[in-house]
Amino acid sequence: MASYCHRRYVSRLFQNFGKLQPKSKAGRDQDVGLSCNSHKLMMYNDVVAQSYAGGFHILPLGLRALEKLIRLVDEEMQGIGGQKIAMTTLAPESLWQTSGRWAAAGNELFKLTDRHKHQFCLGPTHEELVTRLLANIAQISYRHLPIKLYQITRKFRDEMSPKYGLLRGREFEMKDLYTFDSSQETALETYVEVCEAYNRLFDRIGVPYVKVAGATGIIGGNLSHEYHYLAEVGQDSVLLCDRCGVQMNKELAAEDGRLPSACQMPASQCELQERKGIEVGHTFYLGTKYSNPFKAVFMDSDGSTMIDFQMGCFGLGITRILQASVEALSTETGLRWPGLIAPHQIYIIPKKDGSHSDDYLALAETLSDTLTRKHHLRGEVVIDDRMNLTIGRRQVDADRLGYPYMIILGVKALESPAQYEVVDTASKETTFMSLDQLMSFT
Ligand code: ATP
Ligand code: MG
Ligand code: MG
Ligand code: MG
Repeated sequence: MASYCHRRYVSRLFQNFGKLQPKSKAGRDQDVGLSCNSHKLMMYNDVVAQSYAGGFHILPLGLRALEKLIRLVDEEMQGIGGQKIAMTTLAPESLWQTSGRWAAAGNELFKLTDRHKHQFCLGPTHEELVTRLLANIAQISYRHLPIKLYQITRKFRDEMSPKYGLLRGREFEMKDLYTFDSSQETALETYVEVCEAYNRLFDRIGVPYVKVAGATGIIGGNLSHEYHYLAEVGQDSVLLCDRCGVQMNKELAAEDGRLPSACQMPASQCELQERKGIEVGHTFYLGTKYSNPFKAVFMDSDGSTMIDFQMGCFGLGITRILQASVEALSTETGLRWPGLIAPHQIYIIPKKDGSHSDDYLALAETLSDTLTRKHHLRGEVVIDDRMNLTIGRRQVDADRLGYPYMIILGVKALESPAQYEVVDTASKETTFMSLDQLMSFT
């Protein structure tokens, strides 16, 4: 039974509370800090709201999209045997001293002191905590391996210049997976398996991406790849050559001494391009860099030898992916979402028609209930019930919010047989459909 509470009425949704976008481009650009298109659109449409510099509240529309993205990530991580956990946010200084990162991470760590004068940091990444977690478990045997633990939690980094909203925040959601293997060989198999899961995930999201060889930074290890969305606002530079196949972060080329040209072709044939990228994911093979100092070991098959785990760690910037995909797809005036994570799928606009307006609204409600019931679209269908506004005026808002499909209920929707006007938001293509066609289409 579809019930009233599954209906979503625009007039009661927390979206665009009269905070209309300034009309001129100059006016829009004046907004302090709103320096990229996706950030502006997300602020103007109440997807996020700033709490402090580099910290953002995620509002209902943003959270619906974020939760859908998290579901996709869960599917892919659990598809390769990942088990979800939630580690503490606070990490004791002593563990970060053991890894040598308390000093190495420098000012990026948010540090705090408890009443007993013990120091902690707010976790920016969790290699120390997860390695200690495994070190504290006695009797892990080779038979238990590989172990794959992941979490999707808030991470904290005191970024020098937080910028572009969720793209570079001082707190943000990250998916971090940690893997524990018995040998280098199996650890590298796990590494490939996780990269394949990342490829599947990014294919499903549908925004074009590149995978490049990456620098290892303070995480350490000696094999690493990064996933990037190519975009002008990206803060990384990636080097790509179709001819020789080189794909690498410029930082890595600089570290390796491979600049000025990372291309392996003779200069006359090189087609190396430098592009700006947004780093949306990062994979590392760590070896025993953490297991060794933390004494995280397993019992080998001989029943007596204790061996250091071979580890890998794999990050995804969840809130960064959310905004970066909006950045890649949106127009200057309208949000566009990857289909699988759009906050709502369908936006129904019933005609304003004097005393007949109620009939159109009632039809919209019936249609919303039917679609919801038939396609398990609970919460996915939104009715624009602002019956004092013309269809055209409400279409402008629908376009701005960018839900994949609009259904316009005009005169033909009350005729017999009824015809519903379906608009594909991205292509603007309009099709008239009967109820049957509509039901099999969505
Ligand atoms: P960047 O080079 O952009 O500073 P990073 O290399 O320091 O990122 P990692 O330590 O590799 O980041 O963290 C894993 C993932 O977390 C990154 O690939 C990115 O998607 C995301 N991430 C890192 N820093 C931020 C941030 N400040 N805001 C949002 N997401 C972030
Ligand atoms: Mg960083
Ligand atoms: Mg980086
Ligand atoms: Mg990185």
